[in-house]
Amino acid sequence: MEVTSCPVGDLAVANPFQMVVQQIDTVCDRLHLDEPWRVRLRHCERELIVHFPVRMDDGTVKIFTGYRVQHNDTRGPGKGGIRYHPDVNLDETRALAFWMTLKAAVVNIPFGGAKGAVACNPKLLSLGELERLTRRYAAEISVLIGPESDIPAPDVGTNPQVMAWIMDTYSMHKGWSVPGVVTGKPVEIGGSLGRAEATGRGCMFSARLAARHLNMDLEGASVVVQGCGNVGSVGARLLVKEGCRVVAISDSCGGVYNEKGLDLAKVLAHKRESGSVVGARDTETISNKDLLALKCDILLPAALEGQITKENADQVRAEMVIEGANGPTTSEADSILYDKGVFLVPDVLANTGGVIVSYFEWVQDTQAFFWEEEEVNRKLKKIVKRSFEEVLKISEEEKVNMRTAAHMVAVQRVAAAMAARGIYP
Ligand code: NAD
Repeated sequence: MEVTSCPVGDLAVANPFQMVVQQIDTVCDRLHLDEPWRVRLRHCERELIVHFPVRMDDGTVKIFTGYRVQHNDTRGPGKGGIRYHPDVNLDETRALAFWMTLKAAVVNIPFGGAKGAVACNPKLLSLGELERLTRRYAAEISVLIGPESDIPAPDVGTNPQVMAWIMDTYSMHKGWSVPGVVTGKPVEIGGSLGRAEATGRGCMFSARLAARHLNMDLEGASVVVQGCGNVGSVGARLLVKEGCRVVAISDSCGGVYNEKGLDLAKVLAHKRESGSVVGARDTETISNKDLLALKCDILLPAALEGQITKENADQVRAEMVIEGANGPTTSEADSILYDKGVFLVPDVLANTGGVIVSYFEWVQDTQAFFWEEEEVNRKLKKIVKRSFEEVLKISEEEKVNMRTAAHMVAVQRVAAAMAARGIYP
């Protein structure tokens, strides 16, 4: 989570759950799954809405609204982040929970999909207010979460400190420490080495695999990154290590551009000091709209959903898109990019580094036996490679884009698990 004076950034997409419904229809058509399957996939298993009071620093009491949604837990406990953003709502949380079901299934880890959110602007809260809000929200959703039922993690607007407060609150209610109730927490209380960088690292591995497939040399390849938070900044940093040139990066205040390649360390330092990348030395300012239209080898959208739409997809001039964010490309934009020959690695594959290392963290917590960072990164690489190859194979065999192929792999696994378990009672 970044804390700046910038706006938090708009959610450009009207209703991400509409995207989900289209995606379910597309994949079910391909897999010849009939209406009862579609209906089950369209519905989340559990949806909790909470309205709760928080005492503000000035003594007033404010009511906040939060959500925890479990989409499908057939393959294992719910897993999914918690988002703090003023525009969150039930449909967005449902969409994000659905994508978590798919992600866990694409990479074949034993989790279902869940997501949580609180409608708030964390940038406008003091540290004390943020802690009280988090602890009360954690208590409200404690009827659903737990290491065997549903395990939250960070997402937009939350960070390891927020996870630590949730872990502590849950543990206080139990009467003993329960590190496995959340992932993405500080290593001092059972977090995994490598978790903070995992999503960006997974994006880098995906870019490597896609580059190999496209015969693209990463050495000198130009990269444009939208979003400079956990995913975008780490992804950018690791791609630079691969020899890439990051020519533009943005946050909710706007973007910076340098055709020859940004000095990323200086841009990130400028952001740490001033709150935004905008104004970093030796850069031109660029709007988020223009940034998406820059000619580049790799475009890494790593902000929010609904950024590449039918209005601007035609202007995208990237060779490949690595979806660091969840749902950054709308369904109409997907088709436009595919027709243009842009190779797109979808969110449910490209940004799975986070959920994979969250799985490792949960396994380590459960066993109380912790791994070296090298082991975490090695196992992460192996799973991303295996999943990428499985999805690419389906995409080539079935002549569908990588998103539909990934959804086919995932829905097949979820449907097989549902069929094996049957319907209770
Ligand atoms: P974050 O809060 O750390 O960073 C988000 C970044 O996006 C910030 O730099 C913010 O300024 C920027 N931003 C917001 N609106 C913008 C806009 N309209 N234009 C440009 N930039 C904008 O969040 P994060 O954890 O990096 O998550 C980013 C995306 O990645 C989200 O879609 C999230 O769901 C997804 N994701 C995150 C993880 C994870 O482990 N954190 C895992 C998988 C997917």
